[in-house]
Amino acid sequence: MGAIMQTSASPLMPIPGAIDPVPVRRAVTPREDGRVDLMGLSRMQIKSVFEEAGLDAKAAKLRSKQIFHWLYHRGETDFDAMTDLAKPMRGWMAERFVVGRPQVVEAQVSSDGTRKWLLRSDDGQDYEMVFIPDADRGTLCVSSQVGCTLNCSFCHTGTMRLVRNLTPGEIVGQVMLARDALGEWPKGSMASANDDEESDEASHYTSDGRMLTNIVMMGMGEPLYNFDHVRDALKVVMDGDGLALSKRRITLSTSGVIPMMARAGEEIGVNLAVSLHGVTKDVRDELVPLNRKFGIEELLAACAAYPGANNARRITFEYVMIKDKNDSDADARELVRLLRHYKLPAKVNLIPFNPWPGTDYECSTPERIRRFSDIVFEGGISAPVRTPRGRDIMAACGQLKSASEKKSKAEMRRLAEEKQAALG
Ligand code: SAH
Ligand code: SF4
Repeated sequence: MGAIMQTSASPLMPIPGAIDPVPVRRAVTPREDGRVDLMGLSRMQIKSVFEEAGLDAKAAKLRSKQIFHWLYHRGETDFDAMTDLAKPMRGWMAERFVVGRPQVVEAQVSSDGTRKWLLRSDDGQDYEMVFIPDADRGTLCVSSQVGCTLNCSFCHTGTMRLVRNLTPGEIVGQVMLARDALGEWPKGSMASANDDEESDEASHYTSDGRMLTNIVMMGMGEPLYNFDHVRDALKVVMDGDGLALSKRRITLSTSGVIPMMARAGEEIGVNLAVSLHGVTKDVRDELVPLNRKFGIEELLAACAAYPGANNARRITFEYVMIKDKNDSDADARELVRLLRHYKLPAKVNLIPFNPWPGTDYECSTPERIRRFSDIVFEGGISAPVRTPRGRDIMAACGQLKSASEKKSKAEMRRLAEEKQAALG
């Protein structure tokens, strides 16, 4: 904790090691007005910042518990509304702390009900989040980075030049903002100890009927290249005293960062999705350049070792359907062979390729996708075809790229070459 509170240092620092080549902000980033943003902090971190601000250990512990509940269970951002704090304490908090939210630059709604938000951090970086409502669930697609260093050839996000890891506050902030927008914070007074005046809110308290039921780390960025912040953010999201989302309702998608997969299983424990997209070295090298570093066989072996994967909790393999690239009968049969060879408790999600301005790829035909799905299904593995959502507002898989980022084709090609060279 001490390290992240050194407010005198630069707010940006390089991540050590080869795996994280992008700048990362400190979890507790100093604001211009000197106050500390509590958003994204764990109960222990809140306790520490309260102690550093002058509360004794006992008071800091009590206040951190109360504040954690207000922040993440109630969605409150105004200390003055925290009715179980004595008035002077509320003032003391407001002088030193804030409860932030990402700034909304633009909010769009698709004809199919999908919603997309363009968000901006306080240092002017843009990123996006998407909410996908379904009959039985509502899924928030959360970003882990601004842009992505991996440059998969079919993904719009990979063409963004600027990349920065999002902080836990910016990751949790997306969930908070979605809840704000959906109007689904619990109403009424809460049961926790009142050490101050009586609450004047209605005594009825309810938190059911939620629209936001699931989270997928499938927005911008590679979550396993921002491991610590994604882990810390998801721990806050899963905490039973706060947002309380079950780990079974959270899915982390990776393009195959093998060295971090076991830790993801052990330290986060959410469902795993792996972006496979190709079954031969040549094709996967082209589609997911990280494959040159971490190949298919190694990746599948790491999946087989993923802690917590079993038939009740299968690993999802995402497979984008690209015309004449990876969609033949032979590809489908090879996919079945590989998944069986590694005895993987697997399901396959077939994602029709979502086009974006400047791409040379095309989506496979519906007949081809159906046939591919049938072959995988006949091989004993479920392979539903995903209906693209929010294509009209560029909110579908792989279409995210902040609106402020516009580059020429030549510039994008140069960037792709640079990134490929960096991967070696
Ligand atoms: N970086 C992570 C998570 C974000 S991408 C990953 O790659 O897994 C979420 C999913 O969308 C991935 O499976 C990705 O391969 C897929 N995707 C990317 N671009 C796409 C496109 N243009 N059409 C369809 N799916 C795409
Ligand atoms: Fe990055 Fe995932 Fe897009 Fe690849 S598919 S460029 S890993 S966001």
